[in-house]
Amino acid sequence: MFPLEEWFTLYLYQQDFIAKEQLAISPDDRGYYFGDGIYEVFRVYKGELFEADGHYRRLELSSADTRIPLPYSIPELHAKLLELIHLNRLREGTVYMQVTRGIAPRSHPYPAKAEPVLMAYCNELKRPLQTMQKGITAVTSADIRWLRCDLKTLNLLPNVMAKQQALDLGANEVVWHRDRVVTECSASNFMIVRNGEIWTHPANHLILHGITRDVVIRLAQKLHIQVHQAPFKIEEMMSADEAFVTGTTVEVTPVISVDGVYIGQGELGPVTRRLQQAFEEYVGI
Ligand code: PMP
Repeated sequence: MFPLEEWFTLYLYQQDFIAKEQLAISPDDRGYYFGDGIYEVFRVYKGELFEADGHYRRLELSSADTRIPLPYSIPELHAKLLELIHLNRLREGTVYMQVTRGIAPRSHPYPAKAEPVLMAYCNELKRPLQTMQKGITAVTSADIRWLRCDLKTLNLLPNVMAKQQALDLGANEVVWHRDRVVTECSASNFMIVRNGEIWTHPANHLILHGITRDVVIRLAQKLHIQVHQAPFKIEEMMSADEAFVTGTTVEVTPVISVDGVYIGQGELGPVTRRLQQAFEEYVGI
């Protein structure tokens, strides 16, 4: 079928598996000129999709509210993604998939005839074990995004700009806030620990409902750590005992300083460490 070396770069395009070099994307794809599409990033551990159901539920929400139909059913999609992992011999990494509204001349209204375009590929990725020990630094930044941050859409320019702002300031990430209420980070959710209890922004329209966030909340509850899904301000973050981010690729990673000021002891804290351990046990890695 394919020479062996090409198996590592097979993409899923609609129903077919195609070598990356052979894949052609139309310049009239609305995803290209409007960012008119939705996406998901799945974690792959031991060749399996992690928390697939949660990702599919979020994908269905993004699909329903943007009225970008999925080209096939969730069970069919699941089978295709597993085949993609298998064909690419992926054991540990990510699967990226996106669906755009389709190909049509550039015009704002939803086109009557466009067929959604699905594309997915795999990436090999190791767990960020060193960073999970060492932690990351962050800077605060105004959350300038729109009011449907719960939809996972291709319009990531604010996220891209924020990440670059952090790097330009010598930090790893931004902590976004709206009127000083902390929302999330440019590619992860954000939590603080105060007096042994966790605080994180409620899962409403102002943040992405992270799959990892959900797992971590469930694990914390099992460990009898109280979780407040309630707004908190920059001031409460700065005087917190610990802070950490959650996300598909970062798992549970401590944030050791914000705006150059240490959070707590400025190192991986005990609650964060317990959650990392619980997460590893849950994943079975
Ligand atoms: N917030 C934003 C803005 C993100 O891009 C991500 C990464 N998808 C997350 C939170 C974390 O979500 P998840 O745990 O599903 O990766």
